[in-house]
Amino acid sequence: MKLQEYTESRHNFEECMKCTVCTAYCPVLQVNPLYPGPKQAGPDGERLRLKDPWFFNYALKYCMNCKRCEVACPSGVRVADLIQSARIRYDHTKPKLRDRILASTDLMGKLTRPVAPVVNGVTGLKIAKSAMDAMLKIDHRRTFPKYSGRSFEAWLRSHEKEQAAFPKQVAYFHGCYVNYNHPDLGKDLVKVLNALGVGVQLLDHEKCCGIAMITNGMSEQATRHAVHNIAVLKKAVVDKGLTVVTTSSSCTLTLREEYPNLLGVDNSAVHDSLLMATRYIYERLEAGAKFRFRTDFHKKIAYHVPCHMERLGWSIFSERLLRMIPGVEFTLLDSACCGIAGTYGFKKENYEASQAVGEPLFEQIRSVNPDIVACDCETCKWQIEMSTGYSVINPISILAQALAE
Ligand code: SF4
Ligand code: SF4
Repeated sequence: MKLQEYTESRHNFEECMKCTVCTAYCPVLQVNPLYPGPKQAGPDGERLRLKDPWFFNYALKYCMNCKRCEVACPSGVRVADLIQSARIRYDHTKPKLRDRILASTDLMGKLTRPVAPVVNGVTGLKIAKSAMDAMLKIDHRRTFPKYSGRSFEAWLRSHEKEQAAFPKQVAYFHGCYVNYNHPDLGKDLVKVLNALGVGVQLLDHEKCCGIAMITNGMSEQATRHAVHNIAVLKKAVVDKGLTVVTTSSSCTLTLREEYPNLLGVDNSAVHDSLLMATRYIYERLEAGAKFRFRTDFHKKIAYHVPCHMERLGWSIFSERLLRMIPGVEFTLLDSACCGIAGTYGFKKENYEASQAVGEPLFEQIRSVNPDIVACDCETCKWQIEMSTGYSVINPISILAQALAE
């Protein structure tokens, strides 16, 4: 890339005033001495890489892309984007088989669905975990998410008619997790939106948002997914005038921010119509819609804000919705990374760092001792459940549980 193209860089590295605040907020830097940290890997490194790509440092692979450095930076430098862009531009190492498997969430879901009970049983076996550890370097201490025998898409298709009867409509970008692992979250969203008089439509065949592909060196595949998804989203937003809601903070950040900033895919036609469902619901309530809650719902809930939700700046909507449920004793957990970062914590070489990053959060959850941990990210859920034993539930599902029939 020519130097000229960086006179006004997309990621603002020229704005860095070298305050080092980002280094204090980087969870990886605190546990992994091999990682140079956000300032060096981001704006400082970018100056050198533009002079000569030889300065690219392969230790940038340790960045979790959690974006905490960007939230912390007082100058608005897109530190994590600088790091991920550098990896896309300069690291041409072929992804390992393990990384391809972990990043291909759509494909794995499709292959696994017909034999979900068998796969769920096998991936829970000690011997299978040891084999994956030895052959693929997927850490044997990791617990794998379960697959569902029926996809969310199939379920919603069978309810298309009744959804179409609602006076107001939204489209739902459900993501791989809801479609293949946990359709109940999608069903809960349908229940909550229906209670507000809103019907839910599928998009005209979405693909995985591609976040795991971006961080696993598969940016070309991620770009193909992005181009496809933007075309599909345009049909909903531009042609039909629908808002598109989501239930995963990482999918949302990818669709809204990573597509243009990392993959160069223009999403301006749909960007402002892509909302976390919690934000959409909150805005409907503000506009006068009403929920009827159960009177016998009593739970102590601790809310963990996922890193990508912090970057979006939208945790306030989940928090306010949870606080409005009568009978909820609410605790907002301290801002902290859980350490899994999607596929990062599954890798043998990252497992120890992943758990060390998450430990302060796990410790706080143990001390609060809630009935439920609330969280808008599926991989945080896997990490917290595995590491603490507490049940982690998306705020949408908590709302669904708390609604009067
Ligand atoms: S994205 Fe996260 S891991 Fe990467 S440099 Fe920023 S704070 Fe550190
Ligand atoms: S926080 Fe921002 S301004 Fe400060 S060193 Fe990091 S990138 Fe530079």
